[in-house]
Amino acid sequence: MADKTNRFETEVIHEGYDSKEMLGSLSVPLFQTSTYTFDTAEQGERRFSGEEEGFVYSRLGNPTVAVLEERIAALEKAERGLAFATGMAAVSAVLVSLTKANDHILCSSGLYGCTFGLLTMLEEKYNIQHDFSEMDTKEEIRSQIRPETVAVYVETPVNPTMKLIDLQMVAEVAGEFNIPVIVDNTFSSPYLQRPLELGCDVVVHSATKYIGGHGDVVAGLVAGKKDFLDEMAMTTRKDMGGMMSPFDAWLLLRGLKTLPIRMDRHCDNAEKVFAKLKGHPKVSRIYYPGDEEHQDHHIAKRQMKRGGGLVSFEIEGTKADAQRFLNNLQFIKIAVSLGDAESLIQHPATMTHAVVPETARKQMGITDSLLRLSVGLENWEDIWDDLVQALNRL
Ligand SMILES: *Cc1c(COP(=O)(O)O)cnc(C)c1O
Repeated sequence: MADKTNRFETEVIHEGYDSKEMLGSLSVPLFQTSTYTFDTAEQGERRFSGEEEGFVYSRLGNPTVAVLEERIAALEKAERGLAFATGMAAVSAVLVSLTKANDHILCSSGLYGCTFGLLTMLEEKYNIQHDFSEMDTKEEIRSQIRPETVAVYVETPVNPTMKLIDLQMVAEVAGEFNIPVIVDNTFSSPYLQRPLELGCDVVVHSATKYIGGHGDVVAGLVAGKKDFLDEMAMTTRKDMGGMMSPFDAWLLLRGLKTLPIRMDRHCDNAEKVFAKLKGHPKVSRIYYPGDEEHQDHHIAKRQMKRGGGLVSFEIEGTKADAQRFLNNLQFIKIAVSLGDAESLIQHPATMTHAVVPETARKQMGITDSLLRLSVGLENWEDIWDDLVQALNRL
């Protein structure tokens, strides 16, 4: 909750947990249970009526999951947090909670592929329409808001070209219309960017990425106002059932403790690798929010603590050259996902953005020789050595 005064690096370790209440256990206990026993029939009645607080059944709530929910709320400066089985369970719960048939959602362009898929399904089934916006100016956003618009949905940085959207500006325009702004904060993590502090209303995360950080869990988190999240917990999450498992919450609590340290190292390594890549003759374009020449660097300076751990770059050559480059890497892994200790690289045109039609892909700047690198926690010189040997073999 927002009344805590500790700093971020302390909250990732302590928030929401008191070992004195758990027999002195330093580590948050893993409550691997499906249900909870009542002392009496009357207590069961009180729990169900809401007259008495307490756990009932793990799809509704679980003590291990609850610690994680308090922790993410503190980190995002939110009133409440909610945990979900996957990032997409979080995104879908938020969008389904905010909309009804015939509503409209205004979205930033270049959304995560499955979020795009979800929006398409909502349109086909319930005529919930959406438009995409570059969200470069207030006028542009104002002109795209309709009487039916009930939510503005934003991802920044935009994958994989690292375009940035000014969150404070978006929040101001949406505020004129009293429309909530939802931000997918997966790429930055709360360490680098806190949308609620900039006036946005709801944050969603694929905790699979930087929050987990170790490539061993798929999970989602939401942070925002208590009223909205209370309602989600008792409707969309409870009844659609995308609840996080206690073990996944336990893994995420463990991952979160090192989030600030990991993020700083991801950023350190990304900055160094970016600077080297930028000067290499086989690299024709490069996209990194920490680049002073990046078109949106001024936005990065305002709303992000640092440039993040993702660097996208285009190599001289064709799709076959890009694939040969990937195949020539030694320890950098060819994989989608991001935010893990291991450096991961992928080819958007044939992987994450393969479903996007070619013309739309080209418009987004996703060429056949564009690659997205999630810079890991290895020694940066080893990462660079691996990249440069593969570049030199092109
Ligand atoms: C991975 C990702 C998601 C989906 O999360 P899952 O945990 O895979 O369900 C949503 N948004 C962004 C930006 C992502 O990178």
